[in-house]
Amino acid sequence: MEILLYILIFLFGTIIGSFVNVVIHRIPRKESIVYPPSHCPKCGHELKTIDLIPILSYILLKGRCRYCGEKISVRYPIVEVLAGIVFLIIYYKFGLDFKAFSYMFLSSILIAVSFIDIEHKIIPNKIILVGFIGGIFFRILMSNYGFMDYIIGLILGGGILLLISLISGGEMGGGDIKLMALIGFFIGWKLTILVLFLSVIIGALGGIILVALKIKGRKDYIPFAPYISIAWLISILYGYEMLNYYIKFIRG
Ligand SMILES: [Zn+2]
Repeated sequence: MEILLYILIFLFGTIIGSFVNVVIHRIPRKESIVYPPSHCPKCGHELKTIDLIPILSYILLKGRCRYCGEKISVRYPIVEVLAGIVFLIIYYKFGLDFKAFSYMFLSSILIAVSFIDIEHKIIPNKIILVGFIGGIFFRILMSNYGFMDYIIGLILGGGILLLISLISGGEMGGGDIKLMALIGFFIGWKLTILVLFLSVIIGALGGIILVALKIKGRKDYIPFAPYISIAWLISILYGYEMLNYYIKFIRG
């Protein structure tokens, strides 16, 4: 039975991923996410249910539009698989409670924001706002976890990046600051500090690798949201172990 649940969680993730794909495509283009129904961006043909099955449709259609043959971005199956895997990992670690659902929700937001940041170099306010509405909803459902910890996480997450931005003269985008505040609101202040720390390290490493491979030039914009998202996932999975290890280490 357990294996069936894993399969269902993965499928649930891919369906959410499929919706995240719509968000990634439409929000930066200022289009509604509900109307018109899904269609091919090239020929405009409306897509049927059979064209919209996560992962499977892409494979069966060999990555092309059924109607005009236009190539479909490989981003579609990637986002679907990614959401499925992240949901699986969250379920494996946390089970199925409000905390797990809050992390599944936030991971969907982070996937959307990361891919938009890579493609358009922006983090849309609309998505951050939806994130905060969800955050308030989960904080109320999870009132047994307290509130203060998460308010401090919000202020700390946004505040430290704002400070870095002021000191560095705007290296850090406003979107990153809001995104970090949102993450703080979901994970509390301790893990927020870890996410900040890890994202700077992972971001620096990623930047060096991208420049070394000549994918990015030294002066190019390097999106930070993907690094924050990776740091967030590591922190919710191993954060408390890492913090405990660190405290033991500095105490000798
Ligand atoms: Zn088409």
